Amino acid sequence: EAASLSRIGLAGLAVMGQNLALNVADKGFPISVYNRTASKVDETVARAADEGGLPLFGHYSPREFVLSIARPRSVVILVKAGAPVDQTIVALSEHLEPGDAIVDGGNEWYENTERRALEAEARGLLYLGMGVSGGEEGARRGPSLMPGGSHQAYLNIQDILTRVAAQVDDGPCVTFVGPGGAGNFVKMVHNGIEYGDMQLISEAYDVLRTVGGLSNQELAEIFADWNRGELESFLIEITADIFRVKDEHGDGELVDKILDKTGMKGTGKWTVQQAAELSVAAPTIAASLDCRYLSGLKEERESAARVLDQAGIVLAPIRNVDKKQLIDDVRQALYASKICSYAQGMNLLRAKSEEKGWDLNLGELARIWKGGCIIRARFLDRIKRAYERSRGLANLVVDPEFAREMVQRQGAWRRVVGLAIEAGISTPGMCASLAYFDTYRRARLPANLVQAQRDLFGAHTYERVDRPGAFHTEWTKLA
Ligand code: NAP
Repeated sequence: EAASLSRIGLAGLAVMGQNLALNVADKGFPISVYNRTASKVDETVARAADEGGLPLFGHYSPREFVLSIARPRSVVILVKAGAPVDQTIVALSEHLEPGDAIVDGGNEWYENTERRALEAEARGLLYLGMGVSGGEEGARRGPSLMPGGSHQAYLNIQDILTRVAAQVDDGPCVTFVGPGGAGNFVKMVHNGIEYGDMQLISEAYDVLRTVGGLSNQELAEIFADWNRGELESFLIEITADIFRVKDEHGDGELVDKILDKTGMKGTGKWTVQQAAELSVAAPTIAASLDCRYLSGLKEERESAARVLDQAGIVLAPIRNVDKKQLIDDVRQALYASKICSYAQGMNLLRAKSEEKGWDLNLGELARIWKGGCIIRARFLDRIKRAYERSRGLANLVVDPEFAREMVQRQGAWRRVVGLAIEAGISTPGMCASLAYFDTYRRARLPANLVQAQRDLFGAHTYERVDRPGAFHTEWTKLA
């Protein structure tokens, strides 16, 4: 009897669940699958058969599903985040027994995971909140996995996770992230960083196209070229591919026919909200979120363009730029801007880790992002090494290697942002990164004046540079 039981179960067979289940079966672990709507079970079973008879077993009732898994059971849930997860847990946990584990693989808000973990614990169940990144392809071929919560629940499936995850030069892209909702929180910040990367790439595209006059063909070649150097990453690679795709419905490339309105599902917003809650500056990620909001106002933007045209907005004509130099400058500006964005994400993770006592290992997180996930990139290895050199590194930009790179690139970075500003091409992500860098690296800021104002109108007191203590001045009497 026991021999015919599955090693693990997976409930929720949409894009992610279906592909992750096939991946698990492909690695030789017998898996039971279940979905609320039966047709997706049939679909998944058919795919497993098509792929040469993978050990995947479909079930149509929560009871049969749960009972088909060997104890202690591990059940991965991959349904829409929020209420559907609660409903799925209710349906399954009725049949689960003490020692069994629930593993939520969705993009869940970390506090929901912490609440469910307590509820599970009260019933003797273990709980893991596991971020899964890499989209459809990652789930099928090897995602980056960010499990957090019950360490025992992790140990129960560690052999499966290490086989299923993407493999890079220094191991599988999975690690036990930390307790509580740490896994979901890390996945959330990963997505925030992803927002920043995509925004910065779109700005590089805009500058090259609008200021440099580059064609889609040229852009495809440049991004492909960049993907052979320090910018090598999944997002740069797919961007090169995108520029090559022709429009099926007309002339030219598809990218030019796509409406300039960005969708979003909430993890970027959560990242920015958390940054604000923790008093961590994350201006590049915030700029990317703001840009998604502004992109949504398509009609308003069209009418604003008309109004300001009529009001006579005339921008300086775009200077004759040296194309080769511009391309090289934009590459460097993109790289430097990215480092600042990652620095913000990492510092948000550290602040949360300190608040919650999660003891996150930032270098190890950079490592598991090297493969499988959307932000996978060559330079994550350098970020990993920066945190290995100094676990308490205050900011990536002051790591000796990155500091040198920032300094080397700052001329190009400032030229690109300057050109864009002159041409009226907004580059909010690059500007935010540059302002972050320039603010962080200055030993003295104009914050003295803000303190003086606060003390004048609100008697908030101020500190002095030359003696200790809190001071208050009757400013208006002295003025
Ligand atoms: P999804 O579209 O988010 O969700 C669809 C699945 O949820 C279906 O299996 C559906 O079952 C189930 N579901 C919805 N409401 C339910 C309810 N009330 N009770 C039971 N089941 C319910 O699927 P997805 O895109 O595969 O994503 C799954 C999770 O992974 C999400 O949290 C998502 O944010 C995360 N994620 C997605 C990606 C991606 O690239 N798509 C990448 C990383 C992470 P029915 O078939 O019965 O409707």
